[in-house]
Amino acid sequence: MKTYLKTHLLDFIIIGSLLFLALISLIIIESVANTKSVKAEIYLKGELVLTIDLDKETTEKEIAISDNIKVMVKKGAIKVVENNCPSGFCMAQGYSSSPAKPIICAYHGLYIKLISNNSSDSDIDVVAG
Ligand SMILES: [Zn+2]
Repeated sequence: MKTYLKTHLLDFIIIGSLLFLALISLIIIESVANTKSVKAEIYLKGELVLTIDLDKETTEKEIAISDNIKVMVKKGAIKVVENNCPSGFCMAQGYSSSPAKPIICAYHGLYIKLISNNSSDSDIDVVAG
């Protein structure tokens, strides 16, 4: 029995350290994903009117883009809260925090483009599924 434990102790140590390494890499991926920097560029009729660093926002804040359009920003995300467009799709879309999900309002020519400063973002997305 003693020899069994002795020969298999190494296995346990190897398995244990592999699990530990997996956990550590998960934590690292998590923290990288959480610290990614997201910026929003707001275009109106093709013209860049405002750039917002969404990571610097700590609380929800309303910003007027034009007489008819207001957006709400919070940490890492942006949404349209007021817009007199007929469809209202831009408002219905809610918060966007991903460069893959821009907010577009064709009626006003509003285009909110999200830019991630972290170049390894796409890799993380693949890992996270
Ligand atoms: Zn709209």
